[in-house]
Amino acid sequence: MWVQVFLLCISCFTLSTLSQTQDRASLHRTNDRAGHCQYTFTVASPEESSCSRNNMKPEVDGVLSRLTLLEALVSRMIAGEDGGAGTAVGATEEGLQEAFTQVTGERNQLQQDKEQLNRQIQELQRRLEELSAEAESLRHKPCQQTHISGGNPRENRPASDPAYDIGNGAYQEMKAEVTEVPASHLFPEGNFTGCGELQSVGDPVMHKKADSITGKYGVWLQDPEPLGDLYTNKTAWRINAVGKDVRQLFAYEDMEQFSRGFPMKVLVLPEPVESTGATMYRGSLYYQRRRSRTLIRYDLASEKLASRSDLPHAGFHGQYPYSWGGYTDIDLAADEQGLWAIYSNSKAKGAIVISQLDPESLEVKRSWETNIRKNTVANAFMVCGRLYTVASYTAPNTTINYVFDTATGEGRAVAVPFKNKYRYNSMVDYNHAQRKLHAWDNFHMVTYDIRLGRANQGRS
Ligand code: CA
Repeated sequence: MWVQVFLLCISCFTLSTLSQTQDRASLHRTNDRAGHCQYTFTVASPEESSCSRNNMKPEVDGVLSRLTLLEALVSRMIAGEDGGAGTAVGATEEGLQEAFTQVTGERNQLQQDKEQLNRQIQELQRRLEELSAEAESLRHKPCQQTHISGGNPRENRPASDPAYDIGNGAYQEMKAEVTEVPASHLFPEGNFTGCGELQSVGDPVMHKKADSITGKYGVWLQDPEPLGDLYTNKTAWRINAVGKDVRQLFAYEDMEQFSRGFPMKVLVLPEPVESTGATMYRGSLYYQRRRSRTLIRYDLASEKLASRSDLPHAGFHGQYPYSWGGYTDIDLAADEQGLWAIYSNSKAKGAIVISQLDPESLEVKRSWETNIRKNTVANAFMVCGRLYTVASYTAPNTTINYVFDTATGEGRAVAVPFKNKYRYNSMVDYNHAQRKLHAWDNFHMVTYDIRLGRANQGRS
């Protein structure tokens, strides 16, 4: 292409030179004597021109030098074009080669993976066949009564005991380690571990948030002293208390299942529940029957009503509730010293009455009248035979504002900081096995760690 351009340039140059010469030429047409048309083409002689021969030389030299430059330029361009194309082709070939190598490598790797997976499948099939054969042979063998010899007391346990059968050596070892953790590891050196007076309440720890309106308030508990093997102190229990006919008691295997919202069982209570005052103690759920002063003990193992009893003169269904209302007239509580009812009656004129109950029959063993009005406080709980009241159910930073000691029959104001993180705390209950408060705060099921200490001298 550049050669064509060059020739075109040369042609232009030549024409240009000719035209300069023709500027001084002329054409004439005349008739000759014979009557023919005669053409005369006249060119000016160099001698007649205004430019001398000597003056033409620099011009010719200039033309020659421009031609030389033009030739050099064309040569360079032709060489550059060829060289550039060669480089591009080389780079393309190199890229293709590289891509081909990469694809080949990936194909080889995939083939290797496929072969490895095939080997794994074959191995799994072989193991499956072995296990099937083993299961078949075990099915035809008679049951063995003992698995461990050498005087181990566990060998007397029946082979059908699931805890025994499931456990191999490692499982038994783990159980032993768990039971042998020294108490000093559970409680830092110097911490008070006895039954004492409330010193502080920690921040609430959230375990579950209810996902529907029926979970705005309710009761959730763990039994501090479970009975039997069916349920343990890890089993978590929940009652959504919103509604007119509250009868469902949800059981969760442990806190993990509780947090995930996967109950292992739903028990249907024989009588409807009133409000959020229920408690859990020694294998039974204790609660107030709806619209009555009747207390009910529901046995968890047999799923039957075990006993019922009226709480004498107790106000109910809105007569003496806590400050948030909600028919929280009768609040049941368990602590290190037993089972309690927190309520009021006409004789006490709205002041909180505490009654210690017989856990079997629900009859009142002894009662105390305090000097704090029930409808001025948000909730209450018992710890080591002492009643504590929470000042507010909505204030994010409130206090435990009163303590009454049943051992001395005296009460006094206190100010232990307490947090209602979610601003609507409808239930507070103490679990003495965990030394925690369980609470239900506006859809949120929370616990609070508490710290106890020795009561100050001269104080209850
Ligand atoms: Ca309570």
